[in-house]
Amino acid sequence: MPKRSSGLSDSSTVTISRAGLLRLRGGHVWVYRSDVVSAEEIKPGSLVSVQDERGKFLGSALYSSSSQIAVRMLSREKVDDLQALLRERIQAAVAYRKQVVSDTDAYRVIFSEADFLPGLIVDRYNNLLSMQILTQAMDADPIRQTVISELAQQLQPAAIIERVDPRIRELEQLPARTSGLISSEKISGEQIGDPTGEPASERKTSTIFTMNGVRFHYEALEGQKTGAFLDQRENYAAAAKYMRGEALDVFCYQGGFALHMAPHCSQVTGVDSSRPALEIAEQNAALNRQDNGHEIEWIEGNAFDLLRDYSDSGRQFDSIVLDPPAFAKSKQNLQTAMRGYKELNLRALKMLRPGGTLVTCSCSFHVTPEAFLEVIAQAARDAHKSLRILENRAQAKDHPILLGVPETYYLKCLIFNVSS
Ligand code: SAH
Repeated sequence: MPKRSSGLSDSSTVTISRAGLLRLRGGHVWVYRSDVVSAEEIKPGSLVSVQDERGKFLGSALYSSSSQIAVRMLSREKVDDLQALLRERIQAAVAYRKQVVSDTDAYRVIFSEADFLPGLIVDRYNNLLSMQILTQAMDADPIRQTVISELAQQLQPAAIIERVDPRIRELEQLPARTSGLISSEKISGEQIGDPTGEPASERKTSTIFTMNGVRFHYEALEGQKTGAFLDQRENYAAAAKYMRGEALDVFCYQGGFALHMAPHCSQVTGVDSSRPALEIAEQNAALNRQDNGHEIEWIEGNAFDLLRDYSDSGRQFDSIVLDPPAFAKSKQNLQTAMRGYKELNLRALKMLRPGGTLVTCSCSFHVTPEAFLEVIAQAARDAHKSLRILENRAQAKDHPILLGVPETYYLKCLIFNVSS
């Protein structure tokens, strides 16, 4: 965490246990409620001082009265002006992206703890910003206003849209709110025109963004997550380099991998169980038609069933992408998740022609990189295939991994050369 010049104005103090202290010493920024020894009369979402049981000051943090993550550290120093600190950190997050992001107008601008702004996620899609607030502290009115005005000043978006996860608001005991446009009078700074030429009525929540030269539709108030899987941006480009021949994109969503591989392959099939996702995939394919060179086939279905049918009927491919949803949502279903990864990878490996490429992903934080590699090794043994690692990748750099906070490292993307 960056240091912060001192000043003394946060009045409330949270005392944490030795287990909590050790966790912070290990580089983490969370203190669980079970490690809070005393937090008397602290207002939900307030700025607090954190101390150990001997009264030693450990830093300033944001407090939640309801979440299991009671304390999210902000600084090892005392923070006196929270709004000024947030403005500085938003500026730093924007500057970091200028350094690490290229060839795209869509990327994550702020990634919560990994940008030292716990509880705040902001994504940029061309001229739109999509904001998610995850904690009581970030939801407090003066804080929201500071964040919105700094984002507007730094990035001059045509609009900022708030995306609400009702489950998170419930967990944080925050009043219900609906996703929607943050009214433009609240956004200071100059408004910029919309280059997509969409009708004015739709202009503010939809746009077209371009990553790695591939164009995508974006609709801020539909779709999963914040609209697209920006964390795969660098992996799309990396995978495309190896793709050729007949290609299969399993769990294709709106076509992220399929559209990137289309120019390099003779035939591309995308599979997903979500009809709405495939409809957008189809529209995205139309946007990029001149580059694709051929039609992409989109199949609605259960990936497990389809892979079984394909492998039973002896279908073969040269390139396969597996990018399933997070199978292990918690530690409890880790075993079932591992069985799922094993089955998918086994079937894919059996269908690959010699010299083919497998791109296989896991976005479950609970599946460690080592465990994921091991499950692929097991699948390779069962499929009697030899695998060589072409690339061992993670999420794109606009979703930084903060050492000491393992939760910020969640996406694994392995690219293999497969031979028999
Ligand atoms: N590869 C995509 C992201 C995939 S997200 C990209 O880069 O944009 C996971 C996708 O899996 C979602 O679109 C979801 O609809 C789909 N899905 C979930 N369970 C499925 C199943 N059993 N069969 C097929 N698709 C499934």
